[in-house]
Amino acid sequence: MTDQQNSAAAPAQLAPMPEDWQRALAVVAHPDDLEYGCAGAIATWTDAGREVAYLLATRGEAGIDTIAPTDAGPLREREQRASAAVVGVDTVEFLDHRDGVIEYGVALRRDIAAAVRRHRPELVITLNHRDTWGGVAWNTPDHVAVGRATLDAASDAGNRWIFPELTEQGLEPWDGVRWVAVAGTTSPTHAVDATPGLDRAVRSLLEHRTYLEVLTDEDPETYCRTFLTGYAEQLAPRFGGKPAVAFEVFAR
Ligand SMILES: [Zn+2]
Repeated sequence: MTDQQNSAAAPAQLAPMPEDWQRALAVVAHPDDLEYGCAGAIATWTDAGREVAYLLATRGEAGIDTIAPTDAGPLREREQRASAAVVGVDTVEFLDHRDGVIEYGVALRRDIAAAVRRHRPELVITLNHRDTWGGVAWNTPDHVAVGRATLDAASDAGNRWIFPELTEQGLEPWDGVRWVAVAGTTSPTHAVDATPGLDRAVRSLLEHRTYLEVLTDEDPETYCRTFLTGYAEQLAPRFGGKPAVAFEVFAR
């Protein structure tokens, strides 16, 4: 048997996510980014007494074709707060970058670094920063910008000389981020058992009701459960047969 056949027979196993942390900050571009796959892991973590806060770069105001941004922004913010509450997250912050045209750059890094300094997380979570979701499924520029800026800001937050204006505002450097875990990645390294958090993951995604109504004619709960179950089960062969929420972990 060749090496290639070997790896096809026994796919590389994902390591369990680190457990020795207390605070996490999840940083994504839009309402629903965390609910499409990752919220089940967050439910499991908050059950265990860990604190998780959400930081969204936008309010997702450009996400619904039939609703103008001025109406969609506040509506999607409400849905995001309800969605977070289902998985035990009470802190949801918005940076007010513009949906669809988030620019990767110093301003975005500074905003995220400021949040990292405020929340002082050991674990930072973000969404796929790579060009594609795998193969030819092109990612959106907002996800790429926020994912990359989050990976950068996890380090920026610890350096007092990169954004000295933050220190002047009373935000002392925080060099305590130990891992940045990227969800929705094409190259996962770690995973969490998806089963304990699955029902809440479904309810959490369901809270994005307006968005889902536009997205699909299917019964919303069936749609959410089918999507999240399929996503988790597809990773089972790489996690000892257990449906999983996977992350690509960048240790610092
Ligand atoms: Zn998104």
